[in-house]
Amino acid sequence: MHKKLFIPGPVEVRPDVLAQMATPMIGHRSKDASALQHRISDKLRQLFYTDETILLSTSSGSGLMEGAVRSCTAKRAAVFSVGAFGKRWWEMADANNVPADLYEVEWGQTTLPEQVDEVLASGRYDLITVTHNETSTGVMNPVEGIAQVVKQYPEVVFCLDAVSSMGGTKIEVDRLGVDICITSTQKALGLPPGLAICSFSRKAIARAKQVPHRGYYLDLLSLYNYLQTKDYQYPSTPSLSHMFALDYQLDRIMEEGLAARFTRHTAMAEYVRAWARKKYALFAHEAYLSNTLTTITNTTGFDVAALNKDLGDRGYQISNGYGKMKDKTFRIAHMADCTMDEIKDLLVNIDDILK
Ligand SMILES: *Cc1c(COP(=O)(O)O)cnc(C)c1O
Repeated sequence: MHKKLFIPGPVEVRPDVLAQMATPMIGHRSKDASALQHRISDKLRQLFYTDETILLSTSSGSGLMEGAVRSCTAKRAAVFSVGAFGKRWWEMADANNVPADLYEVEWGQTTLPEQVDEVLASGRYDLITVTHNETSTGVMNPVEGIAQVVKQYPEVVFCLDAVSSMGGTKIEVDRLGVDICITSTQKALGLPPGLAICSFSRKAIARAKQVPHRGYYLDLLSLYNYLQTKDYQYPSTPSLSHMFALDYQLDRIMEEGLAARFTRHTAMAEYVRAWARKKYALFAHEAYLSNTLTTITNTTGFDVAALNKDLGDRGYQISNGYGKMKDKTFRIAHMADCTMDEIKDLLVNIDDILK
């Protein structure tokens, strides 16, 4: 039996979206490929609230995270981490010989604007990375306040990991001054995994031009240069299947309407939180709860794996806690095309199994 996924990626994909992946191939150097990639970029610019360039990478989101920190750090990167995915950005910098420092807070807490200000005031950094929505802890960082601080440091390239939030919550990339905003297809966008997306600002482009060794496949500047000179095509063969599905799904997203889509996500998040507060406890700080997933503290100490097995028999799957928080927490994703009725249905089944 297929288990409907309530895990924070990959998410459940609608059958009509999935069917687009089976579209017959076209040449990746054809006019049709250029037109497809133009259409996708135009729609993504609306979703990202940006006028800057959109880059696609046939990799998961991690590919563009690695590419961003390597391509755009000329001096030193400050990595702000509130959980597993934030820390990963530091590991990527380190693995690429990019000078970087890690600024961590306790899991469940947030990156505070004052902390960012203090770190940037040292003048040591020309790039920062921030996690918008930390999928291990269920924290959504106060990106508005952080953005206000970063604007005071014009030499700093601002990278934002919106892998588990873009498409589920409003992120006004240009207004916030984010230079590289990164997401993947398999989370709030509701597509299969395999394609990464980012915005790439003129400031980030100028910076990359000053960085001598940017790698090859994940060199953001080479992707950009190719788009500019080859009518929106990519240097190597991209996953056209994902592009067909993305083109289609972006139309569905615009049809729903961005405001309606974000409201639906907030409503589902509020419903799951209310349920979790009553029966268990929320892991993340109350002021910074994610709109796309909820991390719940397992206050009754039930066996999360056993619950998931029973849920599986009924056709549902949720997530255990991430890494060191396995069994101490569990996670319910409410993102992409998930509906309130599906969420209610899931929670009724969890209550029934654990009663
Ligand atoms: C899933 C996730 C990633 C990693 O993305 P991939 O597409 O799996 O490479 C990075 N950051 C966050 C916040 C995530 O949720």
